Amino acid sequence: MNLIGHFVDGKRVGGTANRRGDVFDPATGRRTGEVELAGAADVAVAVRAAERAARTWRNASLARRTAVLFAVRELVNSRRDQLAEVITAEHGKVLADAAGEVQRGLEVIEYACGIPSALRGGFSENVSTDVDSYSLRQPLGVVAVISPFNFPVMVPLWFVPVAVAAGNAVVLKPSEKDPSAALLLAEWFAEAGLPDGVLNVVNGDAEAVDALLEHPAVSAVSFVGSTPVARHVHQRGTAAGKRVQALGGAKNHMVVLPDADLDLAADAAVNAGFGSAGERCMAISALVAVEPVADGLVARIAQRMAGLRTGDGRRGCDMGPLVTAAHAAKVRSYVAAGVRAGAMPVIDGREVAPDGDPDGFWLGPTLFDRVTPEMSVYTDEIFGPVLSVLRVGSYADAVALVNASPYGNGTAIFTNDGGAARRFQYEVEVGMVGINVPIPVPMAYFSFGGWKSSLFGDLHAHGADGVAFFTRGKVVTSRWPDPRNGGVNLGFPTQT
Ligand code: NAD
Repeated sequence: MNLIGHFVDGKRVGGTANRRGDVFDPATGRRTGEVELAGAADVAVAVRAAERAARTWRNASLARRTAVLFAVRELVNSRRDQLAEVITAEHGKVLADAAGEVQRGLEVIEYACGIPSALRGGFSENVSTDVDSYSLRQPLGVVAVISPFNFPVMVPLWFVPVAVAAGNAVVLKPSEKDPSAALLLAEWFAEAGLPDGVLNVVNGDAEAVDALLEHPAVSAVSFVGSTPVARHVHQRGTAAGKRVQALGGAKNHMVVLPDADLDLAADAAVNAGFGSAGERCMAISALVAVEPVADGLVARIAQRMAGLRTGDGRRGCDMGPLVTAAHAAKVRSYVAAGVRAGAMPVIDGREVAPDGDPDGFWLGPTLFDRVTPEMSVYTDEIFGPVLSVLRVGSYADAVALVNASPYGNGTAIFTNDGGAARRFQYEVEVGMVGINVPIPVPMAYFSFGGWKSSLFGDLHAHGADGVAFFTRGKVVTSRWPDPRNGGVNLGFPTQT
């Protein structure tokens, strides 16, 4: 049995806790490994290593830090297929999708290669006679990154490259469901020249998370996961005096206006609804059809779904299995609840014939029509391949529905009316908006994050927000001794 441990102070290590979790290949249902679940003592060892490393890493010149990041970029780029295989083996998403995830992570590494510009401060000469002022940003010290199962590479890479480039040391706690990719990444950062202890990986579950939240040497926490846990992490972390950004769950709406290109909209709905088996925080799960387009749209989506192949991600299928048997059972129960509540199952994913091992965690794509806002298939984040069509009478009804949602991660509008699109981006209460783009994930040099119950904290991930999150500002006011400026004056300093 493959025993998956931690990566601390530059090497793979075992932990001291005797709790372990199972790791599966979701496409075969077979247990492929056991992951060590760290306790507070294991977390303390990693934080201590990070503390030591942070003291010297902050002194590394920007040239040295960027040299390491450029080398990481080359390693990840040349080994992207290997990383994709590791993702698919533990998460289940198809290889092409896993490669896409690696690509989006690479883009953040590339952004972090430009950290010298991002950290550049301002300078004002002669703010008072012979006095200059300048601003700079300095690292926080030790920061924790806690990631979810659905992007075992991309989400850690939303934070780690920026945190490290800004001069911090990191303790990364990946999801216990697919822990191997993070260990590989940490090894590659070390191979690229990152000093020991600057990036550590502690595997574990809630116990490790809570130990990180309580540890006094951890200055900041970047969390991504479900809304209840994000809320908990934000509350507990900020109560312990830490800076926290906690990205939570989502229920993303795609609004289709009557003038939209229905073929384009149907392609987008299928791609964004069922890619990665719906296990994406930016997946479209609610399709809001503004009448009279619903019949035409549903027919086009159903036609495309008929051609989708669900199966082993290594066999060129379109959609893989769900991550665990328990999650597949939960999503299945939502499909059953939708039928019971009166939603119309146009295609029922429970009837799928997968191209894969019969013991895999299979569920095919499901399309529900005539879903209403009180049904659980609409209110809950299912995080599976279930797309619900809600029919509304007007643009105003569509926006009201989106804005009534407790979530505000991503949304999209499909229309050929520029005025309507502009009005939508202005009125909608959501952090990331697509106009004829179904999954509007911002590029690395913008920042990723939702509103409302999709994000707790103030700053979003990567881009300028990421740099601000992992640094603190300082302003220096300086005057070099000049005999003309002598003399005692207890008044409040003002400009002269
Ligand atoms: P999860 O909340 O179960 O777990 C996330 C992390 O928190 C994991 O590392 C896990 O070990 C840890 N954890 C779990 N329960 C905990 C607890 N009670 N106390 C402390 N830590 C705990 O999420 P998941 O199932 O791994 O991931 C799917 C969720 O993540 C979905 O809700 C999805 O929308 C969300 N997500 C959000 C974004 C975003 O950017 N907003 C991105 C990706 C995923």
